[in-house]
Amino acid sequence: MQLLKKRILEDGKCFEGGILKVDSFINHQMDPILMKSIGVEFSRRFGCTNVNKIMTIEASGIAPAIMTGYLMDLPVVFAKKKSPKTIQNVLSTKVRSFTKDREYDVIISSDFITSDDNILFVDDFLAYGNAAIGVVDLVKQAGANLVGMGFIIEKEFQKGRQRLEELGVRVESLAIIEDLSHCEIKIK
Ligand code: 5GP
Repeated sequence: MQLLKKRILEDGKCFEGGILKVDSFINHQMDPILMKSIGVEFSRRFGCTNVNKIMTIEASGIAPAIMTGYLMDLPVVFAKKKSPKTIQNVLSTKVRSFTKDREYDVIISSDFITSDDNILFVDDFLAYGNAAIGVVDLVKQAGANLVGMGFIIEKEFQKGRQRLEELGVRVESLAIIEDLSHCEIKIK
């Protein structure tokens, strides 16, 4: 994904505490051409598995997930960070937010994730892996099978991959940031 790496180096901005801002093409303004390439790459990496549903968490995971779902011709379901009263059969887990430094509930309806599902989870960032571990818990509660997890950007130095792999999860990241110290973006 040379296109993605080039874009991160050109337009990414780093902030105190190991935060990478990619607001001009992923997290605020979005680049649909780049998102399509991201979907193509996730489809390529997971195309020969038995995945039958794409899952993500609102909000920034939705764009890459819908592109991947479109290209793989699969339904897409997103976990929500608030629990509207109208959602039935709620499965819930707690996640610590890296960027907001607080805990929040993540929910999904068991109407849309069941023991028949083989799930590919797609998200924008993998940092410490807290959100992803919350998803592992939701998938387990639903009795579904987790085929793998795909991230647009992984910050390797925050070691989320290690935690996920210890749980037996297949992790695929399209760009791996080795280091952000001294506000210099080092990509693997
Ligand atoms: P984790 O749960 O792996 O620690 O963090 C993952 C979530 O936190 C991602 O879904 C993303 O929304 C947010 N996040 C973590 N690190 C960054 C970052 O450097 N930049 C941005 N924009 N979001 C991040």
